Amino acid sequence: MKIIDVKTYPTIYPVSQPFSNGMRTTRQRPFGIVEIITDAGITGWGEGTGLPARRALETQVIGRDPFHTEVIWEGLHSQGVDAGAISGVDIALWDIMGKALKQPIHTLLGGAFRDKVPAYATGLFRRDVPDHTAALVAEAKGYVDAGFQAMKMKVGFGPDYDIKNVAAVRRAIGDDILFAVDANCAYDRGSAIAVGQRLVENNLLWFEEPISSDDVEGYIEIRRALKVRISGAEQLRGHRAFRRMVQERALDIIQPDVCICGGITEYRKIEAMASANHVRVLPHMFGTAIRLAATLHLLAALPDSPRAHEPFPTLLEYDMSENALRTELAKEPITHKHGVVAIPQAPGLGIEINRAVLEKYVQA
Ligand SMILES: [Mg+2]
Repeated sequence: MKIIDVKTYPTIYPVSQPFSNGMRTTRQRPFGIVEIITDAGITGWGEGTGLPARRALETQVIGRDPFHTEVIWEGLHSQGVDAGAISGVDIALWDIMGKALKQPIHTLLGGAFRDKVPAYATGLFRRDVPDHTAALVAEAKGYVDAGFQAMKMKVGFGPDYDIKNVAAVRRAIGDDILFAVDANCAYDRGSAIAVGQRLVENNLLWFEEPISSDDVEGYIEIRRALKVRISGAEQLRGHRAFRRMVQERALDIIQPDVCICGGITEYRKIEAMASANHVRVLPHMFGTAIRLAATLHLLAALPDSPRAHEPFPTLLEYDMSENALRTELAKEPITHKHGVVAIPQAPGLGIEINRAVLEKYVQA
């Protein structure tokens, strides 16, 4: 089988109601979507952060065997293509391999440990509303009513906002719901420790990205200072970017994003490195239906570590924000049922792309 063409689709979903994390306000959501076409009539889909240049695709991808994932990865990397952009090509190759073998990607990854995963609702952003606390409490209760057993809230807006609102949400959802917070790198070490010492009074599952994603020493310091799991690394690209973070145990949980880190090929190297160092992996997910499907295959193939009667939950990050490229791009959308999401079982990614929806958001 040979690759005969690669099509790239720069897409933007315009958000109707902007929302903020500790770092930025989101008004539109850009995604790089890749379609790889083979001479066997099989087409694969991928999503990346950015898109490779045409020249790199012509010299390194077109004409090759889609099973040659490592060769294609290194070829694109040698042309200066960023791991975030390689991700889209790589995921499309895995989609093709699965379709060619008539197997879901999780079978290619060594088999599924589970056929469904509990999801945590990612929402609870800061919005332009008169009463932040009331809005957050109402949103959090809505997730509980929808059946979610876990959720994550955005912090990083300063001690007053964070301490007051995290406590209010915890009170509203009760003690049994798993509850994490995410500062999106908005604090320096001192603030992260000072605010964190108050936030951990609310029985948090983890404190995500308190500081800049590459500050290994800072994470080590914070991890020692706070009695809570520290997570991060969703923005890191390429497995070597994770090396010190993992080997020095700067994080309790690393959260590689399959559409940023370099695709499934690169993610596997990151997961192996984390496993060797007893660092937990729970992938980040904030994208289209393609990223959602790819992430579910990774979660299916992730062993419990350690194996236990009551293992740490293998949680899917379920992005609750408005994005038609997540909710409509797959002909049969991936949805949660009472906070649980089924792993796709059809060959490859296990989704069929709705081209009309894709075209609607492609930028000229
Ligand atoms: Mg995050």
